[in-house]
Amino acid sequence: MLDKLLKIIPKERVRLSEPMSKHTTFKIGGPADYFLTVNSLEELRSILKVAKEYNIALHIIGNGSNILVKDKGVSGIVVKLGMNDAKIVNINEGVVEAEAGISNAKFAAYLQENELSGFEFAAGIPGTIGGSIRMNAGAFSGEFKDVIKDVTFIDMESLKLFTVPKSELNFGYRHSIFMDYKNAIILSARFEFKRGKKEDIKNRILEIFNERKSKQPIDKPSAGSTFRREKDFIPAKAIDGSGLMGVRVGGAEVSTKHAGFIININHATAKDVLELINIIKKTIKEKYSVEIQPEIEIWE
Ligand SMILES: Cc1cc2nc3c(=O)[nH]c(=O)nc-3n(C[C@H](O)[C@H](O)[C@H](O)COP(=O)(O)OP(=O)(O)OC[C@H]3O[C@@H](n4cnc5c(N)ncnc54)[C@H](O)[C@@H]3O)c2cc1C
Repeated sequence: MLDKLLKIIPKERVRLSEPMSKHTTFKIGGPADYFLTVNSLEELRSILKVAKEYNIALHIIGNGSNILVKDKGVSGIVVKLGMNDAKIVNINEGVVEAEAGISNAKFAAYLQENELSGFEFAAGIPGTIGGSIRMNAGAFSGEFKDVIKDVTFIDMESLKLFTVPKSELNFGYRHSIFMDYKNAIILSARFEFKRGKKEDIKNRILEIFNERKSKQPIDKPSAGSTFRREKDFIPAKAIDGSGLMGVRVGGAEVSTKHAGFIININHATAKDVLELINIIKKTIKEKYSVEIQPEIEIWE
């Protein structure tokens, strides 16, 4: 199979037994059999064909900021949609198209430069456009669904492209249709923004950044909020209320700055994090009779 992959993409973008700890913001995770950085739709299509031919699993990764990869690693192919060649296109007044591999930070900087407002909430979410659409990422009263017009994806089975309007994407709290329909690889999206002033956009981004910095352990490896909010139940508050801040398993710790975050303080393994998650879940169940669920995705 390797020889076929090397005919599709140059060898510097093909890694074997690549530690996923290098590709996740948690800095945790065992090796992926094949780790490929893909720079075009043609490359992606050809790789999908090879994966199908060899009946090998294929996983997509954005910035790895919402995943915990288990220590034994990931079997099959992990595909990263490359950012270097990814494009942002200003289509017409307020409508902008961005490819999935672009980071939220880069997109936010582009919009600020072009005086388009509405994406300030996402500038500090350390993911890519693709990963963020999939889970309808949100912060500071904004969500991806507020600014999306439509999304283009490729179906891994048929290799056909589809462009679907927001109304059909089943967006909800940290949810989109792409979480149920796992055969889709998001390629790009069109967004709609309002006109804004560069200075105002910059100030709002800075204001949010400062608030994050003061409340969240953004200087430590993590995958953001560990647990999903339940209706009328905020896990971080309950974790704090249960005296779990600062609790450690191995190199993983419940942040003492924000109870919603588990951080990697000293070469944590996925096993450490999973054990800590279980301790938290059990404690919250006992104290509040609520079953909290991880927001982070666990890869094995
Ligand atoms: C410090 C910190 C702060 C955070 N703050 C927030 C926050 O305020 N709000 C919030 O919502 N989240 C937050 N997160 C979590 C995370 O950044 C977001 O969920 C982000 O949107 C994930 O994007 P990603 O590209 O890193 O996705 P990844 O973690 O790489 O992938 C997540 C999932 O998306 C899938 N995926 C990725 N790209 C594609 C694609 N092109 N097509 C189909 N599926 C794809 C992956 O297969 C995987 O299932 C935070 C994380 C950290 C580390």
